[in-house]
Amino acid sequence: MSQPAYMTQPLSETFERYALGLARRESLSAEAHAEMAKRRKARFLRLLEAHGIKGWPERGTLYTRELSKGCKPCLEGWASHLSVTTLCNRDCFFCFNPKPRKDVLSVHGREADSLEEAILSLKNLGVKSVGIGGGEPLLFPKRVFEILAALKKNFGPELWIDLYTNADRLTLPILKELKAAGVSGLRIDLAARAYDAAPVELAREVFSDVEIEMPAIPEDKKSVRGLMHHLDDLGVKQLILHELFASAANMDSLKKRGYQASSSGSPDFRLTWSPVAKSEETVFGHLLYALIHKFKMSVYYCSCRTQDWIAENALKNARASA
Ligand code: SF4
Repeated sequence: MSQPAYMTQPLSETFERYALGLARRESLSAEAHAEMAKRRKARFLRLLEAHGIKGWPERGTLYTRELSKGCKPCLEGWASHLSVTTLCNRDCFFCFNPKPRKDVLSVHGREADSLEEAILSLKNLGVKSVGIGGGEPLLFPKRVFEILAALKKNFGPELWIDLYTNADRLTLPILKELKAAGVSGLRIDLAARAYDAAPVELAREVFSDVEIEMPAIPEDKKSVRGLMHHLDDLGVKQLILHELFASAANMDSLKKRGYQASSSGSPDFRLTWSPVAKSEETVFGHLLYALIHKFKMSVYYCSCRTQDWIAENALKNARASA
């Protein structure tokens, strides 16, 4: 069989594919008062360190208590994302799925003609954890269960499987079926549903591992602070906050909302998506809040620099095993 493309293509092209095919088009306007923003972030970092933050500040990867089970292999480059479809019942302004949406199966942004081909790609990547997502995967529950059966058959019980969902289609029977079919943890995007945590309560009835994964939207700071207390009370294990980023798919809606490009993007940054101003600072504030309030829930920051690091590790792994 010929080599998968990620092992042979030039690095920049491969990084674009690792970035879910988020082709560069144009960027947001430069951040105003960039020097002040840098000073504020440096001050935040010093405070976070004084309060015991863990992780790798130089890579923009920080956490308050522990890493999620799905994130550990991801950081080492041993994880992948299987998208059931890019169709969705929502239309979030920050969504990075290319438009028009397509009802196609893909692995790490590469379309797969069949489930067998998708499984082969995952095997070639040597994955230890997989995220099943979309779009909204639960628009097609039958497909999700077929994928779960194939993953279990080919990778056995060791594979960690997270299901990414906006939770609109979660019901108690579906949750029980997902658990029985081998889903290890749920990752719910509450930013997609205006921070309504009702499905989290339902999910906790079935899953011990319920995690919230969403972008850090600067203007939603207050809503998220209130939500953090509620999630901690519900026994949520992880709040995973992503740096908001601009890609070809969401550029227009970000511009309409007046966002600017962050000046903190690393000069040797290779991904084709770029960080949005004030999102990182918003996360730093949430991390500090979690440390001060001693939440049992771990809060984790996954930045664009983190994603760059992950892609580099994944490529190293792929090339080492080629
Ligand atoms: S719920 Fe998720 S997939 Fe659907 S539009 Fe929002 S971000 Fe995109």
